[in-house]
Amino acid sequence: MRLLRSTDLALRVLMRLAVSAGATPTTRQVAADMEVPYTHAAKVVAELQHLGLVDARRGRGGGLALTGRGRTASVGAVVRVFEGDGDVVECEGATPCPLNSGCRLRGALRRAQEAFFAALDPVTVADVVADPTGPLLLGISRGPQGG
Ligand code: SF4
Repeated sequence: MRLLRSTDLALRVLMRLAVSAGATPTTRQVAADMEVPYTHAAKVVAELQHLGLVDARRGRGGGLALTGRGRTASVGAVVRVFEGDGDVVECEGATPCPLNSGCRLRGALRRAQEAFFAALDPVTVADVVADPTGPLLLGISRGPQGG
């Protein structure tokens, strides 16, 4: 299963902030670290803020910080939110598949998709920045890293 670009970016933003150790990088700094367009990062940060996983403080000395919920957030839960309820294959749409009304494959794919999410449910943001990932993230960070 291939994740949407926004899902992967949301996880990368959470991981980047998880190693900030008290510093508050701006969205622009995080976008630069992740080598993604600022507008894309800003959209993802807004959604993470809405979910209560990231705090964004404006003005001088402002920036982004992971909330307590963000640190313990389940990777599976984040992936579910960003991926939405869509099927892994488009059975309907402009040219619906002729098997749409009674397809066993569709059900099997749904179960496989749920198994994929379920495998990520017990994994937290804190888990995925353990060594060697955390130090690697700090190594590529151009903004504030740890006060
Ligand atoms: S074969 Fe089944 S799973 Fe594939 S597009 Fe058609 S209805 Fe969907």
